[in-house]
Amino acid sequence: MKTLVLDDDPFALKLLDRQLEHLGVSPVLLVERAEQALDLLRAEGDSIGLVFCDLQMPGTDGVEFVRHLAGVGWHGGLVLVSGEDPRVLQTAERLARAHGIRLLGAISKPVAVAQLREIVEHNSAGRVARVRRPGRSRSPDELRRAIEAGELTNHYQPKVSLVTGELVGAEALVRWRHPEAGLVYPDQFIGVAEEHGLIDALTRAVLEVALRQVRTWLDTGLALHVSVNVSMDNLASLDFPDVVAAMAHSARVPLSAVVLEVTESRLMKDVLAPLDILTRLRLKRIGLAIDDFGTGHSSLAQLRDLPFDELKLDRSFVSGAVNDASLAAIVDGTLAMARQLGITSVAEGVEERTDWDFLVEHGCDVAQGYFIAKPMSGEALPAWAGAWMQRRQELGRSAPS
Ligand code: C2E
Ligand code: MG
Ligand code: MG
Repeated sequence: MKTLVLDDDPFALKLLDRQLEHLGVSPVLLVERAEQALDLLRAEGDSIGLVFCDLQMPGTDGVEFVRHLAGVGWHGGLVLVSGEDPRVLQTAERLARAHGIRLLGAISKPVAVAQLREIVEHNSAGRVARVRRPGRSRSPDELRRAIEAGELTNHYQPKVSLVTGELVGAEALVRWRHPEAGLVYPDQFIGVAEEHGLIDALTRAVLEVALRQVRTWLDTGLALHVSVNVSMDNLASLDFPDVVAAMAHSARVPLSAVVLEVTESRLMKDVLAPLDILTRLRLKRIGLAIDDFGTGHSSLAQLRDLPFDELKLDRSFVSGAVNDASLAAIVDGTLAMARQLGITSVAEGVEERTDWDFLVEHGCDVAQGYFIAKPMSGEALPAWAGAWMQRRQELGRSAPS
C-alpha cells in the first residue's frame, strides 16, 4: 500500500516523509498541489491506502480537497494535518466524516512522531471504524405486517449511576427480527412508522413487551426502571397518558418505574397536545426524558416548555469530550443547567474508560454506553447485572480521586 502526502510546503513534505520512513512506511508519494493528488487518486486510488493532507494551501485548500476526494470514490484512510487553531482542525475533521470519508485522525503541526505512529499502526491493523451504515428503509406494508405478527422485539441497554455505580434502569431499544434480513435496527423503520401512521402501533408493541420485561425483573429481585422511546407523533392523541397508565396497571408495574424518552426529529406542528400529554404523564409520576439533547430540536426551548425530569446528553457531545475543549465546555454547561433545574443528567454513548472518568469528575448522574454494556436481551440482563457488581467495584477502586 502506498501513502500519499499533500502539502504546499516542500519542507513540511520532506519532514513528514522522513518521519514516515522512520516508522517503516513506504513507498511515500509527495505532492505539493491538490490537483496532482486527486489525479493520482483517480488513476491508482486502490493502491493508495493512506493520505495525509495539509489544510492550509494556496489554490485548492484542504477543505476543497476533502470535498473533491468524496467524489473520487476512494476508500483509504485520510489524516488531516494543520497548523491551524485546533477548533478549525476539529471542524474539518467533522466535515470529512460527514462526507463519509474514513478519517483516521487530525494532527497539528509540528507533527509529533508518537501521534504519527499511533495512526500508522492503527491503519495497518486494518481497524475499521465502528459505524453502522444506514441500510435501506423498509416498506410500510412489511412493517405493518411485522407489528401484527409480533416480529418486533426489544433489547435493553443498562443505565448505571456514576455516583454509586449502581444499575438504575434500562432503555428498551426496538429491533425487528426479520424472517429474511435478520436483525433490523430502528434507523431502518422508525421513520417509516412515523410517516405512515404506524408509530402508535409500534410504540404500543414496544411498551407492552418492556412492561412485561420489567415485571419479570422485579419478580427476580431486580428493581429497575425501564425507559421507552416515544416519538413526538405519539403525543398527538390526548388519551396517550391513560393508555400508558392502563398498560402499566395490567402489567402490574408502578408508573414510577416507567420513563418515556422523547426525541423530536422535526418541528412540532401542534404544541398544545404534547404539552397537555406530557404534563399529565408527569402528574401520573411517569418519568420524562428529553433524548439526544443538544441535537436537532431537542433544545433549550423544549427544556423551557416541557416538564422533563431527565436530560440525555447526546453521544456526539459525550464521546471525545475528554480531548476536546469545546465539547468539554458544552458538557459542563449542560450538566450545570440540569443540576440547577433539578433534572437527572444521563450521558449517552459512554464508550471508553476515559469518558466514564471525565463524567464522574464533571458531576454527571447516570451513564449509558458500550463501555458499560451494549444493548442485550431481557433474559441476559440479570446475569450481566451480577457481573457488573464485580466490575463496578474494580472501577471504583481504580478511579482517580
Ligand atoms: P437513542 O434513544 O438515542 O438510543 C441510543 C442509541 O445509541 C441506540 O441505537 C444504542 O444502541 C446506541 N448506543 C448505545 N450506546 C452507544 C455507544 O456507546 N456508542 C454508540 N456509538 N452508540 C451507542 P439503536 O438501538 O440503533 O437506536 C437508534 C435510535 O432509534 C434510538 O436512539 C431511538 O431514537 C430510536 N428508537 C429505538 N427504539 C425505539 C422505539 O421503540 N421507538 C421509537 N420511537 N424510537 C426508537
Ligand atoms: Mg433513547
Ligand atoms: Mg439518544
